[in-house]
Amino acid sequence: MRASNAMTKFVFVTGGVVSSLGKGIASASLAAILESRGLKVTLIKLDPYLNVDPGTMSPFQHGEVFVTDDGAETDLDLGHYERFITTRMKKTNNFTTGQIYKSVLEKERRGDYLGKTVQVIPHVTNEIQEFVRRGAGDEVDVAIVEIGGTVGDIESLPFLEAVRQMSLKMGPGSCAFLHLTLVPWIPAAGELKTKPTQHSVQKLREIGIMPDALLCRADRPIPDEERAKISLFANVHEFGVISVWDVDNIYKVPRMLHAQGLDELICAKLQLHTKPANLGRWDKLVDEVEHPQHEVTIAMCGKYVDLSDSYKSLNEALRHAGIHNHTRVKIEYVDSEDLTPTSVANLARFDAILVPGGFGKRGVEGKILAAQYAREKKIPYLGICLGMQVATIEYARHKAGLAGANSTEFEPETAHPVIALIDEWEDPDGSVQKRTAQSDLGGTMRLGAQSSDVKPGTLAHEIYGNVLTERHRHRYEANENYLDRLTDAGLVISAITQREKLTEVVELPTSVHPWFIGVQFHPEFKSTPWGGHPLFKSFIHAALAHQAERAEKVAA
Ligand code: GLN
Repeated sequence: MRASNAMTKFVFVTGGVVSSLGKGIASASLAAILESRGLKVTLIKLDPYLNVDPGTMSPFQHGEVFVTDDGAETDLDLGHYERFITTRMKKTNNFTTGQIYKSVLEKERRGDYLGKTVQVIPHVTNEIQEFVRRGAGDEVDVAIVEIGGTVGDIESLPFLEAVRQMSLKMGPGSCAFLHLTLVPWIPAAGELKTKPTQHSVQKLREIGIMPDALLCRADRPIPDEERAKISLFANVHEFGVISVWDVDNIYKVPRMLHAQGLDELICAKLQLHTKPANLGRWDKLVDEVEHPQHEVTIAMCGKYVDLSDSYKSLNEALRHAGIHNHTRVKIEYVDSEDLTPTSVANLARFDAILVPGGFGKRGVEGKILAAQYAREKKIPYLGICLGMQVATIEYARHKAGLAGANSTEFEPETAHPVIALIDEWEDPDGSVQKRTAQSDLGGTMRLGAQSSDVKPGTLAHEIYGNVLTERHRHRYEANENYLDRLTDAGLVISAITQREKLTEVVELPTSVHPWFIGVQFHPEFKSTPWGGHPLFKSFIHAALAHQAERAEKVAA
């Protein structure tokens, strides 16, 4: 329920000077503060590129693809949104210029424009406004709209024009504008420079947008003198010039913004009368992070090793799990392409091993070695999606007598396709179901949330109880035809999907291995700092136990 019965109000967040200043975290933090004031809030991300589907973009270029419950492949900022506020994101909370144009062109083809000349203004800008309204829905008090890109780029102009028009149409008290800029420290001069901010606000004003507040990113707090200068040149009240300095922990940002009155300013502008903000739980969270009692080191054996943005949600999920085990989680990236039967022994020093999701053949044999090493040396192992598939392949090859077993993704002609494409299945009523393509290039990707029944007496059951619901993003599945061979050899299938009867979780019995689990889904997308995620919490717990056991052995 929203707090008031008035219409939804909007906060538009733009960025200036350079990208990657943390607009997503800033937007999510403001949303979190507003939520703590009792408002119902959502967030929307507009991406100014032409790709219709962020799912098809390389994680090298764009970081992780975040997946929502309803199966949208979105920008990783939506992950931050879900970790900061309670509203869950949907397909409509993220759209690209490509999607806008696609929709406009489809309307044009259908003749919806009745032969008129179709133009950026008004047709594209109207479409953007419609998408923004649709993203907001009609259940929230405030929708915070993060506009990707940098003011001054050709690409983001239609977005800026559209939201300017929106605020004009909606009238005073309904929209606020926030602008995030960079105030660089110039070591040679020993000064923070405000000029780029002045210019970026000028650009914004040229378009007709007057920011209500500036979030000034710097590596240090900005002194009042510089804030006064920015205020004067940018025509923004001094209390609206907010200093956002670098912090070691993103969960400190809500407190930082609140301390400088950002939520007060936004609520005044939007004429929202609420209870005061209460950031108690954020303070507690930060305190937990800063005072861990233990530390574990996890080996993450993946491919995009030097780009931790590809595993944003995974890193966060591990951190959350650490918080709830009073443990600092250190993640070390191990390039699976460097793993050989000899070098894999270097994994012995880790408290646990994790093989994350991935696509393509490169580095796969190294991941299989990592799974084998974890199994044989009884090191806690968590395999996520591809990590579950390599654990299955490894078990097939070395325990089930299926030499040369593989996934058809990596070896189409493999003698034993223990992981393969399954496009059709039979429902309990006998009807044959086909998986539908959800993204243009995605083919038959299994996307979004699905539920599974969990087998009693298993580790998965201890963690999840009878039913688990998790999000997916993959194509290949454990091949039903090999399940008997695998289970006869001792692998436990501890969860299968309710509808399609697909293998969701494989594990080793605890009598054989202390903690060895592979999951076909991506649990990291549902982890929040508040509860932590049960699977990750259990994994970190196992890592601690393994560490203690090793210490005991050394002492003995
Ligand atoms: N490449 C594998 C598949 O498509 C795993 C995907 C993943 O890890 N997300 O099934």
